[in-house]
Amino acid sequence: MVDNYSNSRGEETSQEVSKYYLLQPSLINELIRALRDDGYAVYGPVVRDGAIVYDELESASQLPVGLRDRQGPGQYRLEERGDGAFFGYVVGPYSWKRFLYPPRVKLLTVTSRGEVTVHNDWNGKMAFLAVRGCELAAIEVLDRVLMRGPYRDPVYSERRKNLFIVAVNCAEPGENCFCASMGTGPEARSGYDIALTEVLGDGVHYFVAGARTTEGERVLEKIGARRATDDEVSAASSVMKRSLTLFKKKLDVNGLKEEIYGSLESPVFTEVANRCLACANCTLVCPTCFCTNVEEVTDLEGKVAERWRRWDSCFNVDFSYIHGGSIRSSRMSRYRQWFTHKLATWVDQFGVMGCVGCGRCITWCPVGIDITEEAANIRRAQEVSAT
Ligand code: SF4
Ligand code: SF4
Repeated sequence: MVDNYSNSRGEETSQEVSKYYLLQPSLINELIRALRDDGYAVYGPVVRDGAIVYDELESASQLPVGLRDRQGPGQYRLEERGDGAFFGYVVGPYSWKRFLYPPRVKLLTVTSRGEVTVHNDWNGKMAFLAVRGCELAAIEVLDRVLMRGPYRDPVYSERRKNLFIVAVNCAEPGENCFCASMGTGPEARSGYDIALTEVLGDGVHYFVAGARTTEGERVLEKIGARRATDDEVSAASSVMKRSLTLFKKKLDVNGLKEEIYGSLESPVFTEVANRCLACANCTLVCPTCFCTNVEEVTDLEGKVAERWRRWDSCFNVDFSYIHGGSIRSSRMSRYRQWFTHKLATWVDQFGVMGCVGCGRCITWCPVGIDITEEAANIRRAQEVSAT
C-alpha cells in the first residue's frame, strides 16, 4: 500500500507519529465532545440490529463497550467480552464509504418549466472515530479512484474535504481478517490524525494516542490529554506485537496478479459459481467497491424529474447490459470479474489491489465464499496444470 500520503486538508501525514498522549477512558467522551464543538459531525461504532455499524455519535455512551464480534465464513454474532474494552471488535457490515460515497445520492433535478438544479451542495465537516488500519487503506484506495485519478468524483471529493480521522489499532484481529498479509494492518499506517491503542488488563485501562498531524495534536491538547510515558508507549507497542501473532488467515499476494491472468478459464471459477448466489452482498460490504448506476425518476404529474445515483454491483446481470444484452450473463463470469478486478486488474488500473484484507466479503457472504481460499485454489490449480 502507499505510504506517502497527504490528508484531505493538504497536510503531509507520511512522517512518523510526532507525539504520544495518554487518554483515560473518560477522555474518549471528551474527544467526541471536542470534535463536535469544532463543528464536526462525529461518526463511529454503535450496535444496531445485532451488529456493530457506524452512525452519528453524540457521546461515548453509544459505543459498543464490552462487545466482540465473532466471525466466520457466512457468520457474525456479537458476544460479551467481560472486560469493558471500548474497541474490542473488528469490522462490521458498514464501511466508511457509506459517508464518503453514499449509497443513494440525488444528482440533478429538472422541472417542466426548464429549471435545472445540480445537487452538489454538501459542505459539512466529518470526523470518523475508530477507523481500522484496513479501513484507512480502503479510504486511500477510494482516494486514488475517485479523487486523484483522471476522474474526480465531486460527491466523494466534497465529503472527503476536512475529514478528521481517529484510527484505532486492532489489538485482536477477527477470524476473517487478513490485513497483515496485505500490508494494511493491524496497526494504522498513514492517513489519520490520531491513532489510539487500547491497553487493557492487569488492572489498567487506558489509550495511548499517537498524533500524526498538527490538528490531531491540537485536539488532544484541547481535551487535556497528558503526554504518555515511555512505559505506556511501550505497553501499547506490546499490544500490537501480540496482535500480529493472532492472525488465522492470510492471502499470499506474491505473483498473484500473473497467476490470475493465467487462470481466466480455471475450473475454480466454475466451482465457485456453483455456490455463489449472485446476491451482491460482497460488493455492498466491501470498503473499496465503487460501482454505481444512475436512474431517472419523475413525479406522477410529470412536472419534476430527478436523477439519482445508487450503489450497484458487478454481480447484477443488468450491470453489464450493453446494446441489448448483458456481457456477463453467467454467475461464473460475474464472480470472475469481481475476483480478477479486486486482485489483478485493479493493480493495472490504480496501482494498488482493490482488496485491503478486511474480511467483510467472507463474513457477509451467505454461503461463506472466502476470497483467501479461492486465491489459494487458483494457485493450486495452476501448479497442478503445470505438472
Ligand atoms: S474484497 Fe473482501 S476482504 Fe477485500 S477489501 Fe473487499 S470486503 Fe474486504
Ligand atoms: S456474497 Fe457470496 S453469494 Fe453473494 S455474490 Fe458475493 S460471493 Fe456470491
